[in-house]
Amino acid sequence: MKKLLAILLVSGVSLLINFILALLVGLSSILMSGPFWGPTILGFITFYIIGTLFNSYTFFRAQQYAKELNMAQKVVDAHQQIDIGCAACNAVNTTAVLLNIDNDFVCMKCGATNSILMNFSTAVKTVPITPQQESLIKNTIATIANGNKQ
Ligand SMILES: [Zn+2]
Repeated sequence: MKKLLAILLVSGVSLLINFILALLVGLSSILMSGPFWGPTILGFITFYIIGTLFNSYTFFRAQQYAKELNMAQKVVDAHQQIDIGCAACNAVNTTAVLLNIDNDFVCMKCGATNSILMNFSTAVKTVPITPQQESLIKNTIATIANGNKQ
């Protein structure tokens, strides 16, 4: 119902602006000693077509933007979600995390707004040892241990 009222209101305002512009065209025609109704009707039709094209373009752009936003949201949902406990009630929430914005989420259980704090550190990557290296190390340790016993 609200959506229908909004559509009627927007259409009504749009038609009113269209009518006022058409009246201005008709009045301009009268000022130049021309007819009133012909230019007014022609102006109304012209502005109606221009308005419809503009609205179609705007609607198309909004749809494109919504699609891009939806795709970006899917990327975020697919790759950058974490399970994190609420600071207020400790309930686990699944939320998206981005590095370049402040990450907030509203707890699904208690409704508290949480900020996600991130702390980064580094570690050197090592290469896993082979079974031969492992047995060599074990033998060396055993030899040293036996040497210490003697
Ligand atoms: Zn909570």
